[in-house]
Amino acid sequence: MSITLADIFRARQTMAGVATRTPLVPSPFLSKLAGHDFLLKLEITQPIGAFKLRGAANAVFSLPEGTRGVTCCSTGNHGRGVAYAARARGIPAIICMSSLVPQVKIDGIKALGAEVRIAGASQDDALAESQRLCQTEGLTEISPFDDPFVIAGQGTIGLELMEDRPDLDTVLVPLSGGGLAGGIAAAVKAINLKTKVIGITMDRGAAMHQSIAAGHPVEVEEVASLADSLGGGIGLDNRLSFALCSDLLDDTLLVTEEEIYRAMQTLYYEDRIIAEGASAVGVAALLSGKLAGKLGELQGPVAAVVTGRNVDMVVFTRIVNGMDVALGDLKVRGQSHGA
Ligand SMILES: *Cc1c(COP(=O)(O)O)cnc(C)c1O
Repeated sequence: MSITLADIFRARQTMAGVATRTPLVPSPFLSKLAGHDFLLKLEITQPIGAFKLRGAANAVFSLPEGTRGVTCCSTGNHGRGVAYAARARGIPAIICMSSLVPQVKIDGIKALGAEVRIAGASQDDALAESQRLCQTEGLTEISPFDDPFVIAGQGTIGLELMEDRPDLDTVLVPLSGGGLAGGIAAAVKAINLKTKVIGITMDRGAAMHQSIAAGHPVEVEEVASLADSLGGGIGLDNRLSFALCSDLLDDTLLVTEEEIYRAMQTLYYEDRIIAEGASAVGVAALLSGKLAGKLGELQGPVAAVVTGRNVDMVVFTRIVNGMDVALGDLKVRGQSHGA
């Protein structure tokens, strides 16, 4: 099973009025560095502050008439997307979380009209509760990345990119479960095979990168990162996103925590953009010189998908001020902008 351009066009119609078309804006500072137009695809302007609303809206609005409700176990942007889309359709959503999830995340999801169910003390317990709700209450679970409707929804970003700039040489996409990169690559490659699509992730716990290298899904240890939205595995029984990413991505590239830190700072000072760590990895690839290291000299316009802005503002303001950041076992040394 694959994702076609027709699936992606249909997703655009299905999600219309819930998820929005987002701007593609040039960064003068980054363009100068790249030697070509360097464009930012601002998914931070979606109603939930992240692109995940596209896939969630397509999945929720594609469910048959009479659907009882939906559930998932994401504490992050997917949970927000499912909650928002379910409210827009007028069906209940129950988002399952472990007792370790901080209150602000619980409040954020509740504010979008969803019920929050606290189950156990791990992500596995929360997932088990979500699956139980499917059995006992007839809810439908929506996967964050391994679902054809979710992938087609994320693919609408690729469609918009190619409509706005058909001359794109390279698209830089943050990579975790691969629904985003797989969907974008499906759209971009269907329109122009020559446009390169590069998946970028943090060097700690890069599940899709390691799985592509191994030729099959592998498990990785989950560790703290500034790019918290890129954490987690791809599922050993992955059905769709692994095959899409290994077939369609031109390459994958890893960036360090220090490089993500600097990219968040640069986007703020040079472009006045608040980006969470996961969404700054494309800019980190450029700033670190790793993009040129991988592709050689850039051949034309580049677009980086700035995927979300849902960052802890205490962490973010420390980065803006060049201060050290501690997250779990992780310490990222501070550095001032331009230093
Ligand atoms: C989920 C997410 C990603 C990665 O998307 P996948 O489909 O899991 O690869 C990137 N950035 C942000 C902000 C996200 O929430």
